[in-house]
Amino acid sequence: MTIHGIKGELLDLLFQMGRDAHPNEFVAILKENKGVIDEVNLLPGTVTGESSASLLFDMMPLSTHIAGSCHSHPNGMLLPSDADVRFFPRTGRYHIIIGYPYNNTNWRCFTVDGQLCKIDVIA
Ligand SMILES: [Zn+2]
Repeated sequence: MTIHGIKGELLDLLFQMGRDAHPNEFVAILKENKGVIDEVNLLPGTVTGESSASLLFDMMPLSTHIAGSCHSHPNGMLLPSDADVRFFPRTGRYHIIIGYPYNNTNWRCFTVDGQLCKIDVIA
């Protein structure tokens, strides 16, 4: 499964979730359909930091359509932390980080090994 894009309206929803959770972090599972990320599933629980994010991933559902994860960085850093790179392999191959102030220039996608990965925004 190769991901080549994300739906624009889903990206907008992720930014809204980031704003709603701010100054806390949120974490969610991304699902794909035919190579396009088009669905987000919240995980149960309240996320307040990187370490709790990794615990929540133990509760994630099993599905063949899971593309990866999305979480926010309220400090605006658009790079995976050490904790992020440790939990990426447990949750799929593509990982989006969105950062404060949560608009179109404040997101990046990373592969499972923490390398920057360009995906298209699909209308
Ligand atoms: Zn992080």
